[in-house]
Amino acid sequence: MDNRVLYQKWRPLTFNEIVDQEHITLTLRNSIDQSRTSHAYLFAGPRGVGKTTTARVLAKALNCPESPNCTMQEPGKRKFCEVCKSINAGKMIDLIEIDAASNRTIDNIRDIKDKAMYAPNMGSKKVYIIDEAHGLTGAAQQAFLKLLEEPPENVVIILATTEADSLPLTIVSRCQRFDFKRINHREISNHLSIIAKEEKINIDNSALDLISINSSGSLRDAENLLQQISSIGDEDINEEHLLKFLGMGARSASLEILSLVLEKETDKVLALIQNEVNNGIDPRMIKDRLLKDLRGLIYTKNNLSELLEETEHTINKYSELSKKYSLEVLGEVTTVILKSDIPSNENPPINLEIALLDACLTSKPAPTEAVVQKNVETSKPAPTE
Ligand SMILES: [Zn+2]
Repeated sequence: MDNRVLYQKWRPLTFNEIVDQEHITLTLRNSIDQSRTSHAYLFAGPRGVGKTTTARVLAKALNCPESPNCTMQEPGKRKFCEVCKSINAGKMIDLIEIDAASNRTIDNIRDIKDKAMYAPNMGSKKVYIIDEAHGLTGAAQQAFLKLLEEPPENVVIILATTEADSLPLTIVSRCQRFDFKRINHREISNHLSIIAKEEKINIDNSALDLISINSSGSLRDAENLLQQISSIGDEDINEEHLLKFLGMGARSASLEILSLVLEKETDKVLALIQNEVNNGIDPRMIKDRLLKDLRGLIYTKNNLSELLEETEHTINKYSELSKKYSLEVLGEVTTVILKSDIPSNENPPINLEIALLDACLTSKPAPTEAVVQKNVETSKPAPTE
């Protein structure tokens, strides 16, 4: 049995398997095809979006003796030569990975410099991947700069960092820079559904969407969350399980509270808030979620729901609710709630109650079609006699 965690087990091994970074993989593939590779690369971007993974695929591409290169295989194919196999297994001695956060001394960099002088053993390039490159200290940075200024033959250095701005310009300017983006939540969902199917994890699509949305564009976070939720029981996993697991009860009640506010049903609003707080939901979290839903309604009202990071189920709800209210009303309610100051874990939740009472008083339902029609009729100028 394979005991590796999901994100290790499902780590992409070829350019085609890398998720949603085509702007980078295409350029790298072309440079390999045309043998116009660089001595130093800088991979910048948020955590969990594929920087180290891409660095390993690049290391493989640089060393693979096969033609076509093993890293250029079509999606779904995983046939590797001996060199690529050893990199996949993390056993290739010419690929050296250094975590700068824990190996930041100047001696470590000198060590790289000394070792880099020797020709590669197995492959054609010696590749250094420096993870968390912003962790290098001043002296180590200087030593590193010297290495970049006169790179030894057959050495390729790939710096990966979440904080490119913390690196000195002198280093950045000597690297070919690639900026990794947050992965689109739909791409994450698609990827997770493949994993779930292969791993026999029974989870429905709306739950997968919810995981993706809650991972802020990090595939690694999404895979870890899928792993955690799959290990809690044998039941089929749905959106409700996941909300509970994430401690996001406020989310499901939020739209209900909002529709009651918009309908000015103050008694029901107060009762529902009390119920949520009794269930351990922080009033401040309810406020945040209400604002997120109001934003969702406003976007939907403007036909921009495709820009929202929400499940299909939630977007359908937005669509239903937003039809009933004017943009003006939604804007006013948002302003009132936005301006409120809700202390964390306040109990009884007086500030939230007052804020929502204010919001109830503000919200006037949009006139229905019939009323508008009637007003138009009555405001017609009377025929002159
Ligand atoms: Zn190969």
